[in-house]
Amino acid sequence: MQPSNPLLQPWNTPYGLPPFDLIRTEHYAPALEVAMAEQVDEVEVIATSALPPTFANTIDAFDRCGASLSRVYSVFGNLTSNLTNEALQAVELEYSPKLAVHSQKFYLDSRLFARVDAVYNARHNSGLDEVQIRLVERLHLDFVLSGAKLDATKKARLAELVEQLSQKCTTFGQYVLADEDQTIIVFDSQADLAGLPTELIEAAAQCAKDHGHEGSWALTTSRSFVEPFLTRSSRRDLRKKVYDQFSARGEMHPERDTKPLIAQILKLRTEMAHIHGHQSFADYALVSRMAKNPANVADLLGQVWPAALKRSREEQQLLLSVAKTDGLTALEAWDWRYYAEKVRLRDYQLDDGEIKPYFTLDNMLQAMFYAAGRLYQVSFQEVTGTAPLYHPDARLFEMRRAGSLQGIFISDNYSRTGKHSGAWMSNYREQSEGVLPIVSNNNNFTQGKPGEPVLLSFDDVETLFHEFGHALHSLLSEVKYEGLSGTNVLQDFVELPSQLNEHWALAPEVLAKFAKHVDTGASIPPALVEKVRKARTFNMGWETVQYLGPALLDMALHSLGDANGFDAALFEREESQRLGVPSEIGLRHRLPHFQHLFTGEGYAAGYYVYMWAEVLEADVFSAFEEKGDLFDPGLSARLKLTLLSIGNSVDPAQAFRNFRGRDPQISALLKQRGLA
Ligand SMILES: [Zn+2]
Repeated sequence: MQPSNPLLQPWNTPYGLPPFDLIRTEHYAPALEVAMAEQVDEVEVIATSALPPTFANTIDAFDRCGASLSRVYSVFGNLTSNLTNEALQAVELEYSPKLAVHSQKFYLDSRLFARVDAVYNARHNSGLDEVQIRLVERLHLDFVLSGAKLDATKKARLAELVEQLSQKCTTFGQYVLADEDQTIIVFDSQADLAGLPTELIEAAAQCAKDHGHEGSWALTTSRSFVEPFLTRSSRRDLRKKVYDQFSARGEMHPERDTKPLIAQILKLRTEMAHIHGHQSFADYALVSRMAKNPANVADLLGQVWPAALKRSREEQQLLLSVAKTDGLTALEAWDWRYYAEKVRLRDYQLDDGEIKPYFTLDNMLQAMFYAAGRLYQVSFQEVTGTAPLYHPDARLFEMRRAGSLQGIFISDNYSRTGKHSGAWMSNYREQSEGVLPIVSNNNNFTQGKPGEPVLLSFDDVETLFHEFGHALHSLLSEVKYEGLSGTNVLQDFVELPSQLNEHWALAPEVLAKFAKHVDTGASIPPALVEKVRKARTFNMGWETVQYLGPALLDMALHSLGDANGFDAALFEREESQRLGVPSEIGLRHRLPHFQHLFTGEGYAAGYYVYMWAEVLEADVFSAFEEKGDLFDPGLSARLKLTLLSIGNSVDPAQAFRNFRGRDPQISALLKQRGLA
């Protein structure tokens, strides 16, 4: 039917990778249509089977169906995030809602649900093992949360809501990306660069060149430009200008103001929750999370918020004492990073210019491979020239254990036009019995001049290790069923492996081997490492408040029982005031560009998950500290066995107890953040 469409042909490529060199934008729409139709046929066979429903012919069969669509979507979903263009965005805008409706409709198929329900009701006396029972229960819950038990009228309305939400969320993401990519702040004079480090000046020169301002300097409003600028620029007027533009993402231009979209999204979500019999979207969303209900989230955030505010007030006094020497009488949000950096330099003698030469990107990639290798008995080897990838920045690595291939890792590290900002992990193929995972990490580091090594700040190094922690969660997965494998875990558990992995960036053995000076090759001095370690809790009040503010806003707005007349600007202002968010700290994400909440459903009523997972992660890491060996073979083997290889095949609260021998405690988190 589509003889020339490479997305629909067998992929006779190395590792079964997508044939990136053959795929063109016009291939996606017809391939998605064919693949969706194929899955409809597969599900029809399951739903209309004349045989009595069993685990094999219903649950396992459903877990396996849609293989073609997974394959096509793996390319489509990845490239719309990291190499998009206007034509591809148009396809995305058309197909995001279609795909959402497509996957939703199976959950609303009453014939299929009757069979799933029958297997569910018989799950304890039909000879199933524990993992099979878990798959049945999770799948049954997916059906219930999708509305399988609702009457026909409600189901029809739900399908409309899903489609509308998907379309609005896609538009939200595109508006924010447009503001980030298209807002160019140009500096014409050397005086505008006061205080900036050389690599930022060079990157700004390159950015100006890329945008037709050769000879000047320019920034986009992507975080990777803005954060270092605010940290180093001694020009208060320009800090304010850059901060204001950064803060205005999502509401810079009336024709793509996201605030009306937010109101519409919230209204749709609230209606969805009501149809399901829940009071608010937060109540509904938390049914399938480890936290279970908004009260448990409030309890956790409520324990940390006052401690963070208290610490931030101490930090503010400290910064203000320095700012006063520049004639400031009060700190503003665009001053905090700058004076924090001054205090950091004064009290910790830590200067990014001193740190960064020890952290080249290439060495840090090797460092994360080394740490994972020792912990989990695997090795990583780069392979070049055999498989075409989608962009020259992407690099391919084989992961092997005892010589045998276990997975493929694609590393894509630089920011570029058409790539979403931030850092994320994604799959091209998920692990299941007999299927090796293909996993990718996407970062947005600023590429230096051609041929020069890329130097990372320690924050960048942590990001690198963080995303690799997600990658390991997929790569180390040893689960029979795809629906329970790898990162297909509960949303408030998914950041455990990633945040945990960050700790090994500071492991003494790792630093000794890989943190080598870019020019001299000398190992990083122990005194400098000690400073990095001490500096980690510096400014943690600010960081925690910056994060918790948006997390509390998220829970508050998604806990509304009635979203009629929601005004995002008013809500943000009033709620920030009620919580006491200090204006000189502000919010890490303001609502108009809060992509976690409004580009999809995954993190809606779920921005808290990072801290929930940090409680777990800090507690897991403290087990290694108690042992006094960050590579203790017994502990790392148990970590892989009980937490990293199991996907969602075990209840996460039980999985945690299997590792730690008890329930999680918050004390390790407070200590880790210096808030105890
Ligand atoms: Zn993460």
